[in-house]
Amino acid sequence: MTTPETEKIECLIIGSGPAGYTAAIYAARADLKPVVYTGLQMGGQLTTTTEVDNFPGYPKGITGPEMMEDLQHQAERFGTDIRFGIIEKVDLLQKPFKAIADNGKIIEADTVIIATGATARWLGLESEKRYNGHGVSACATCDGFFYKGMDIAVVGGGDTACEEASYLAKLGRKVYLIVRRDELRASKAMQHRVMNTPNIEIIWNAITEEITGDDKFVTGARLRDTKTNIVKQIEIQGFFVAIGHSPNTEIFKGQLDLDEQGYIITVPGSTRTNIEGVFAAGDVQDHTYRQAVTAAGSGCMAAIEAERWLGVRE
Ligand code: FAD
Ligand code: NAP
Repeated sequence: MTTPETEKIECLIIGSGPAGYTAAIYAARADLKPVVYTGLQMGGQLTTTTEVDNFPGYPKGITGPEMMEDLQHQAERFGTDIRFGIIEKVDLLQKPFKAIADNGKIIEADTVIIATGATARWLGLESEKRYNGHGVSACATCDGFFYKGMDIAVVGGGDTACEEASYLAKLGRKVYLIVRRDELRASKAMQHRVMNTPNIEIIWNAITEEITGDDKFVTGARLRDTKTNIVKQIEIQGFFVAIGHSPNTEIFKGQLDLDEQGYIITVPGSTRTNIEGVFAAGDVQDHTYRQAVTAAGSGCMAAIEAERWLGVRE
């Protein structure tokens, strides 16, 4: 039996979205010789989208995959070691921190930057997958612009769904808010906002059976009333799913402080976690903004904080 290989490094970055790669650019330039483990989704969530129009520096817009390749190359230019692999286990309770990759390799790191992101929850319909990026989206701030003057549906009854519906109501002609119960989970303030927006219509007790389309784009949705079983068709061009996100924090449970939804708790105004030397950046610690630019910004913060922490410790 061979013993697993152990490697000693200064800075481990877990995740290759905008937060992870930005942390890598800064850490590499600070000579921390960062190692990035990309996870299964190399480049992160933006690799699943088409146009990104709101990331500064791309006046003509850019596709998500191209943008993430640019970030990857920028991180590599300063010597980041980028590895396609998953970190399956961590031990953050002893120093140096330990991480085990899916190939069995053990990494010992002086500092760890967690940038594992969050995953949008989906309804699980086949038609939702088929029209993803062609009318189906999970981010109004990202994609709402494409539905100016159109009819749109938003699914969900929480604060996110209400916020997305309010945002889209300013752009679209009409917004249907599809709620599976006869009440909203959202805060009273959000409920008030939605109910007082004339072009938002709430469809209560409704489950989406299918998102319909012309094989290229969404043209409607078939809804079933859970009380009467009556099925009705709505005509829409955009279908936004806003039923929550799950932060990718499974492997940190029991070691890092997480909030009740599983997001890593950081010290306000910083990326510091409850463990000194462990930093968290991007969507994994942010359920408010969830944007590429904010993820990148906090990735920068994490690398600077890691560098300073290593300096202070020496
Ligand atoms: P992510 O991009 O989620 O990356 C997480 C990374 O962690 C991935 O690389 C994953 O493989 C890795 N990972 C997870 N677990 C492990 C593990 N155990 N080991 C190793 N690696 C791991 N934002 C905008 O600003 N503009 C837009 O136009 C826009 N459009 C979007 C369109 C879609 C369809 C979606 C889903 C999101 C969009 N967003 C947009 C939001 C944006 O993508 C996210 O805010 C941003 O990607 C978050 O970056 P992140 O680095 O925190 O995490
Ligand atoms: P959430 O509070 O968990 O709400 C999810 C909503 O989606 C619920 O209404 C739920 O219905 C519905 N839902 C779940 N699965 C569904 C399915 N399969 N089909 C149809 N509907 C489904 O998630 P969130 O709205 O993303 O909010 C997450 C947290 O962030 C909350 O704490 C929220 O307060 C906070 N947040 C705050 C703000 C703000 O203050 N500005 C903005 C956004 C988010 P049920 O109600 O029936 O379970």
